[in-house]
Amino acid sequence: MTTGKLYTISAPSGAGKTSLVKALIEADNNICVSVSHTTRRIRPGEQDGVNYHFCDHAAFEAMLAQHAFLEHAEVFGNHYGTSKHWVQETLAQGKDVILEIDWQGAQQISQLMPETVSVFILPPSQQALRERLTQRGQDDSSVIERRMSEAVSEMSHYAEADFLVINDNFQTALDDLKAIFRCHRLSREQQQRLHPQLLQQLLG
Ligand code: 5GP
Repeated sequence: MTTGKLYTISAPSGAGKTSLVKALIEADNNICVSVSHTTRRIRPGEQDGVNYHFCDHAAFEAMLAQHAFLEHAEVFGNHYGTSKHWVQETLAQGKDVILEIDWQGAQQISQLMPETVSVFILPPSQQALRERLTQRGQDDSSVIERRMSEAVSEMSHYAEADFLVINDNFQTALDDLKAIFRCHRLSREQQQRLHPQLLQQLLG
């Protein structure tokens, strides 16, 4: 029986998802983030095994054939998948697990494990998102426009999530995210798992 809770966190690129999740796990050592497998090329500054497990198509296909993924999807021409074994092991240790995945993965997870909590992080406006995507590098305007249309396509799935966090102010968004986790830890079901003896003693 699993004891941790599973969360999916989705967002368009530029909404600040990765920074928010990083700050969240730094503040709470009972929350872990799954490191996905991907066929995408490693970007400057990324580390294999930290940001992703980078692999080639053959290795990804082999994992697919072994049913090693809890969910998997093709996003913007690259393949991504979540390790089933790691997620199950980590939940069994009583840790809450975050999957930072796109809407397709979040849909698969909510069908497979309907008790999963899904969160969508949104920017405060299209203008703010455009500015964040522009500040990232020296990309030309056609690249920025492509990223904007990919972001709008990802955001069009916000209504499938249980919770929406708007990242206007980083600290406020982080507090909102923390509140979602805190709220679920206080549910009767979770409290029964965490404090079985206390609940028994109180009625003794
Ligand atoms: P990036 O390559 O820019 O890090 O991520 C591109 C998109 O793929 C993001 O929306 C990210 O959330 C999503 N993604 C990353 N890992 C996974 C995964 O394991 N499964 C799915 N379905 N999406 C993922």
